[in-house]
Amino acid sequence: MTVAGEVVETETVNSGKPLVEVKGLRRVFDLSKPWLNRMIEREGRILLTAVDGVDFAIKEGETYALVGESGSGKSTIAKMAVGLLPPSAGSIMIDGTDVWGKKSQDTERRMRRKIQMIFQDPFASLNPRWRVGAIIAEPISAFGLISDPQDRAARVGELLSLVGLDPRDGQKFPHEFSGGQRQRIAIARALASEPKFIVCDEPTSALDVSVQAQVLNLLRDLQERLGLTYLFISHNLAVVRHVATRVGVLYLGRLVEEAPARDLFAAPQHPYTKMLLEAVPDIDMEGKDRQSIAGEIPNPITPPPGCHFHPRCPVRRVECDVKIPLPLPVGDATVRCHLFDPSP
Ligand code: SF4
Repeated sequence: MTVAGEVVETETVNSGKPLVEVKGLRRVFDLSKPWLNRMIEREGRILLTAVDGVDFAIKEGETYALVGESGSGKSTIAKMAVGLLPPSAGSIMIDGTDVWGKKSQDTERRMRRKIQMIFQDPFASLNPRWRVGAIIAEPISAFGLISDPQDRAARVGELLSLVGLDPRDGQKFPHEFSGGQRQRIAIARALASEPKFIVCDEPTSALDVSVQAQVLNLLRDLQERLGLTYLFISHNLAVVRHVATRVGVLYLGRLVEEAPARDLFAAPQHPYTKMLLEAVPDIDMEGKDRQSIAGEIPNPITPPPGCHFHPRCPVRRVECDVKIPLPLPVGDATVRCHLFDPSP
């Protein structure tokens, strides 16, 4: 693929054990008005199921991409995975520890150190009043990794070099850097606690197209050098195609297709995945016009019954309106669609 003229290669293959295991993950938000207002206005509760029974696993050294339109639940999953938002049901195990299970303070601390997150907007995630050196040193101090100030400063310099910045940049403030450089600072800060697992939430979507490939290449190089495992959240399939080992496609909180990245892009199975791919500008589609994604994503407070995708599906069947499709194995993929149901 070409992102802004620069070639981003893919390939992060690792046949190791799962580092991350997500089972039956569910998150419901209560958007109801206060009780008294509901009584006066004779309104019921309003519940939004943002994530509805999601399962996936990420092997050590892999990049697992979650893709979907806005409102599909991908960022909610990211927040639950890093411990920012509790699930309503289900579990997330990271390196054998349940992120939301009861644990000792010591285990909690060790787990927190292993998990980091890189956000979409690097400027909003960096304290503008702190020098970059202090921003990167903060996790080193918080986790008690290096107590000697000189050694800590040397480590900050090492981290800045690792992400392609000058160690002297530690003296500057975030506003003195470009968007791409600020994302490099955010990556250096994420690496400061020596994590194993990093959640990258749309890490390049706020950047100029010209620097997206540089940041993606940096993430891939760091993965190879440090053996990192990524959960990569993105709405951009052109980016995902070149960073992911496996891909999960979300639609209104449900994982509708999950497959090795190569298989998913070469032979998508679910009608929604096909529709998403037909809308991607940067994929080989000789002789075909790019299609826009038909219809709009429905209101997640009142999702369509049966298969949530049925109002937009070009190959919808009678049962799709009422029957929820279950995840079914299709080759190396798992697909939620009645087309693959042997006994509909
Ligand atoms: Fe289309 Fe039915 Fe499959 Fe849903 S279950 S994607 S409506 S064919």
